[in-house]
Formats: sequence, structure tokens, C-alpha cells
Amino acid sequence: MQSISPATIFRGNYAWQKSLPQIIKLTKSPLILGRSFHTNNLRNKIFIDLKKLNLNVDSANLEFDCCYEDISRVKNIILENNHDSVIAAGGGKVLDSGKYIADCLNIPCITVPFSASTCAGWTALSNIYTKNGQFIEDVVLGACPKILVYDYKFIQTAPSRTLASGIADALAKWYESSITSSTIDDGLVQQAIQISRVLRDQLLIDGEKAVKCKFENNPSWRNTVEACGLTAGLVGGIGGEKCRTAAAHAIHNAITQIITPNKFLHGEIVGVGLLLQLRLEELKNNNKLADQSIKQLLVLMKELNLPTTIAQLGINVFENNNLEKIADFTCRDKSEIHFLPFKIHKQDIVELIANFEQQKKVKI
Ligand SMILES: [Zn+2]
Repeated sequence: MQSISPATIFRGNYAWQKSLPQIIKLTKSPLILGRSFHTNNLRNKIFIDLKKLNLNVDSANLEFDCCYEDISRVKNIILENNHDSVIAAGGGKVLDSGKYIADCLNIPCITVPFSASTCAGWTALSNIYTKNGQFIEDVVLGACPKILVYDYKFIQTAPSRTLASGIADALAKWYESSITSSTIDDGLVQQAIQISRVLRDQLLIDGEKAVKCKFENNPSWRNTVEACGLTAGLVGGIGGEKCRTAAAHAIHNAITQIITPNKFLHGEIVGVGLLLQLRLEELKNNNKLADQSIKQLLVLMKELNLPTTIAQLGINVFENNNLEKIADFTCRDKSEIHFLPFKIHKQDIVELIANFEQQKKVKI
């Protein structure tokens, strides 16, 4: 079974208003799930609009992350109050939690992303973390959301940093899927990889213009937010499990194991993982194009103010055994790093990261 896309998608200006007739057909008693204090006013608007339509609506917030503690607490709220759907309205962590909870309870999920930072509004996948934000596992869900509402007016309110992060995450699709899946003899997988290449090209052309001018009449902004929030999800949907993530996400997952005072966004960490993946391809797979890709990506990442080293993520890899911890987690048995078409050992990752961080230090 393959879940390619949400059953219905509303996108563009006032997508939320346009989705209301469909939403009231699907649910009579939804729970609105959110997290950030900064997006409370958007969730209040959703709440009031649904109340006016006589829905028995309530709301709940995540306390921590997309973690099992919050998930079981919200599940109980839904069961105690007989809610018949979840409206996950927020960033990637909220969307992932809402999808997971709806999947467990066998009720529909409606996703309303408030930023273009991930494609979590689209996919049938939830990334689970600890309360402190350490990656635990990816869970494949039974289906994509029933309705995805991608409203420009909501997305525009997000800080530019979230869009930059979404760009880094979406760029990784091409570099990860092309190395793990280009030998798979399956037309849909091949087509998904091609879409991810076009997606990368579009982000290289439009990404910077989009982050610098976030108005819906700027075609670069429209293309970029849809590339990050929709097309990136489509690639995962069409490519399915075979269109895999690789080292960039494996290194992201490992970096989240080190708890730091300042939290970084998913795509910000994936971007650093992507640079490391390309260096690994150059060293272990003799990929002569990888260095050019690194240079090309660095130009964009610096323009977008994205971190380009683990040090810039607030972690000194040469302290507290951090390098060992990151290498261990990157190379654990079920890590995506093993989807690479060449063998990777822990020592490879230790040397890769040590050289990478050392070189950058010298450059500064
Ligand atoms: Zn990602």
C-alpha cells in the first residue's frame, strides 16, 4: 500500500475559508492541536470560524515536542471528549503529532501548516522525538491527512528563518533520493527522483528571492513555499519507502541527540547533514561532483543565514565525547546511513566530521 497524497488539498490565498464546507462534512467535533504561543492568534481564528459553524470544537497544545508523553496526553483528551477528528495547526512537530494521534485513534486528520519549514502537512509519516527533542524514530502511518489546508495568509506570518529551514530540508530530497534510489528499477521511484531534481533547481533559482520578499504576489515566494510544503511531500508520496533519505537525515538524527540550550529547526540541522553527506560521497564514493555541489549549496545557505557547521548549531564536537556520540548514532543498525550504496563505518564518520569542523575553524 502506498499513500501518495492527502485526499483533498486547498492551497493559496484564503485556502482556509475555501476548505470550510469540506471540513464540516468530515467532522462535527474536532480538536485543534497546536504548540507555539506565537501562533495562538491563528488558532483562535480557526477556533472561532469553526464555532460559528456550530461545530463542537476544542483545542489543546503540545507541551514539549512530537513525543510519546504529549501524544498520550492528547489522545486521552480526545477520547474523554469524543472528538471525531484532529486539526493539526502549526509547524512540523504539531503536524506530525496530530497525524500520529489521528492514526492511532482511527479518526481523520486535517493539517493546517503555519510555515513552509517542512512537508509534514502532506506525508504519511511522523518523526518521534523525546521530550527534549532527541530523535527516536520515524513512524509510517496508515494514510496521508484527509485534508491539507495550505493557506498563504497563514504561511506568510511565519518568520523567514522557517522558510530558509524548509529550503534546506527540501534540497536534501534530491541529494538523498538520487544516491539511494537511482538504481531502483521502478518507474514511479525514477519519476519521484526527477521531481526532486526539478524541486532543487527551483529552490536554487527562487529560494533567496523568496526569503527576502515574502509576499504572495512574488512568484518566487509562492513557488518556494509550495516546493517546500507540497512538492517535497509529493516526492515522498510517489517515491514511497524506496525513495529514501540517507546521510543528511541520519546525521540530523544523530545531532539531535546532543542537547543544546538553543533549539535549531529540522531543516537547519539537515542542511549541515547534507554538506557532510556530500563530503562523504566525495571521500568514499569518489564523487567528483560532490565538491561542486557543496560550493553551490554554501553560497545559497550563507545568503539564507543557514548554519553550515555543527559548531554553528551550538555544539563543539571536540568536547564531551560529542563526536563519538554523533558517530555512534549515525551508524546505529537501523540508521538511514546504511541506505548509501557504499559501506560506512563509525570511524569514517568520526574522521569526516572532525576534518569538516576543523577545516571550517581554520577558515574562520
Ligand atoms: Zn526532513
